[in-house]
Amino acid sequence: MPVSIISRATWGAKPWNNDPSSDGPAYVPLTSRTEFFVHYDGAHHITRTGYAIPRAIEAEHLGNGWAGIGYNFVVDQAGNIYEGRGWTRQGAHCPNHNVSGIGVQVAIGGDQEPSEAALAACRALYDEACRRTGRALAKKGHKDGYATECPGPKLYKWVQAGMPTKSGTAPTAPSKPKPPAFPGRDKFRPGANNAYVTQLGKQLVKKGYGRFYKVGPGPKWTDADRRAVEAFQRAQHWTGADADGYPGPETWRRLFT
Ligand SMILES: [Zn+2]
Repeated sequence: MPVSIISRATWGAKPWNNDPSSDGPAYVPLTSRTEFFVHYDGAHHITRTGYAIPRAIEAEHLGNGWAGIGYNFVVDQAGNIYEGRGWTRQGAHCPNHNVSGIGVQVAIGGDQEPSEAALAACRALYDEACRRTGRALAKKGHKDGYATECPGPKLYKWVQAGMPTKSGTAPTAPSKPKPPAFPGRDKFRPGANNAYVTQLGKQLVKKGYGRFYKVGPGPKWTDADRRAVEAFQRAQHWTGADADGYPGPETWRRLFT
C-alpha cells in the first residue's frame, strides 16, 4: 500500500523561515538515513484535529526560530500523515540525529492512547523509509537519542516491541500471484489420470466453466475437461488449433493469472 502523505501545500505550511526566498532546511540524501525516531507532543492531550495539528506544531517551531516544522512527518489519531521536512530535508527533532534519523511525531500527549490508525500510519512510514533507503532503519524513540520523556511510555513500549500493527504485518504492495509451472502437455490427454487434471479442472470451475462437469473435476482426463478448456480458449478469442481443448503453457498461464 503506497503511503498517502498530505503535502505542506495542502495543509497550508508557511514558507520555510517564514521567508518566501528561503531554500529551507538542507537536503539529506537517503543514503544518510539509518534511524527512524518516534516522538509525541509532550505533556498535554491533543484535542485539535486535521490541519490544525501540523499548523500548531509549525507555529511552535517557527517560534523557536527554526526553519519550520521540525519533524519529517506528523501522524494524527485518524491516521493522516502530514509532510513536515519530508524524506529529503534535515530535521529538527533530535540533536545529533537530524541527518541520520527520520523523525515522526505521533500527535498525542500525556497518557493519551495512540490509535491503531496512528500506529499503522507510523509503521507505514517506517516501511516506506526502509523501502526508499534500501535498508532496515533502526527503530527508536526520541529518548534513545536524547534525555527526554518523549515519546511517552505507550509509544516507547510500542517502538521497543518492534512497532507492530493489528494486521500483523505492515501494509505492503500486494504481490502478484505467480501461476504454477505448466506441467507439460502429456498430462492432459485421453487416458491421463493425475493431480494436474484435478488442478486444471478446479481452476476452470473457479473461472466459471463448471457447467461442463457432471462429475469431478479430475483426476481422470475426460471430454468434460476438453470441452471446458476449449470454451476457455475460445473466450481468449483463439481459434483453430489454438482452441483444441488441450491446454498448452499459454492456456495454463492465463487460466491461473
Ligand atoms: Zn521527541
